[in-house]
Amino acid sequence: MSLPTSAYAAHSPTDELAPWSFERREPGAADVLIDIAYCGVCHSDIHFARNEWGFSQYPMVPGHEIVGHVVRVGDGVTRWKAGDRVGVGCFVDSCRTCPSCLEGEEQYCDSGSLFTYNGTDKNGVITYGGYSTQIVVDENYIVRVPESLPLDAAAPLLCAGITTYSPLRHFGAKAGTQLAVLGLGGLGHMAVKFGRAMGCEVTVLSHSPSKEADALKLGAHHFVATNDPEVFNTHASKFEMILNTVSAEHDYNAYVGLLKRDGQMVLLGAPNPSPLSAFPLLVKRRSISGSLIGGIRETQEMLDFCAEHGIVCDIETIAMSEINVAYERMMRSDVRYRFVIDMATLK
Ligand code: NAP
Ligand code: ZN
Ligand code: ZN
Repeated sequence: MSLPTSAYAAHSPTDELAPWSFERREPGAADVLIDIAYCGVCHSDIHFARNEWGFSQYPMVPGHEIVGHVVRVGDGVTRWKAGDRVGVGCFVDSCRTCPSCLEGEEQYCDSGSLFTYNGTDKNGVITYGGYSTQIVVDENYIVRVPESLPLDAAAPLLCAGITTYSPLRHFGAKAGTQLAVLGLGGLGHMAVKFGRAMGCEVTVLSHSPSKEADALKLGAHHFVATNDPEVFNTHASKFEMILNTVSAEHDYNAYVGLLKRDGQMVLLGAPNPSPLSAFPLLVKRRSISGSLIGGIRETQEMLDFCAEHGIVCDIETIAMSEINVAYERMMRSDVRYRFVIDMATLK
């Protein structure tokens, strides 16, 4: 028995996404069947759909910012029941025994976590993501969406939210930290909200001067338009941490110069690599690091933090059929600040 599922899929790096259908597995003893209400649209979906990272498998059903309701559960499931409001993020399984898995950092699993889409599971089956009506997921890779968070505006927390929350926590953002958020898109706007909630002094660095008013409304204290080259002098050596969320190729070195002594730039965006010079790093003992989403436990912590602080994403809801237009708008940095697909439009 299997479950017929409607979806939108990419069939090649150059085709637009189009309606498609496939079969989900019948839930096993440890599985949960989720009716998908909304799915956020992450820039990684575009990188994957267009094979910009070189390991895409087609047909591909993108989508890893999934929220919905539990429909039914397998015999062995104790933590979830029909009707629960739940979320699924970027991965749906991992080895469960390596040090990273045991420490709740499953995204860094030594065997590689199983991506929600474009992954190959232990039975050799390719995973399909949230641009679909339903999904079957192991009960240990699901989080609870607090009642106070609207499902649509909570969906992007499953990737954009955790990807910005996790490095702020891990690298010790706190009251008074001089934090810069580079790129005000889906990730960037959540970084502003979390930075503000953690008491940081938040500056947005953006190549879109038209976003200034939004940045301040989202909670930033300052806005710097990076298309004026002079700002790299006036803001030199200013920030303790830069969260770099830019999705397109850009010069890392220029931004390293904005870090204080011992400051660090955390790469979250994953464009083609840019050459890196040693000098801007060594003259002030600056560093560059990276961070990948967050583990299940921390994703739940982030959702609870959002409920406590009244944080949700700023979204524009779209019908499934509008996905290709949404991708084009994201390529023009024209998203305020996350597209979320209403899956009722596919049912
Ligand atoms: P997004 O909503 O499209 O936002 C990206 C932002 O980057 C844009 O809004 C724009 O901000 C800036 N930007 C775009 N093109 C630029 C250019 N040519 N020069 C300078 N800035 C430019 O994308 P997103 O969903 O936030 O994702 C951002 C990146 O993070 C993607 O590469 C994605 O794959 C990656 N990602 C990584 C993780 C992780 O775990 N590390 C998780 C999710 C996503 P301004 O208009 O303000 O300049
Ligand atoms: Zn994502
Ligand atoms: Zn592992």
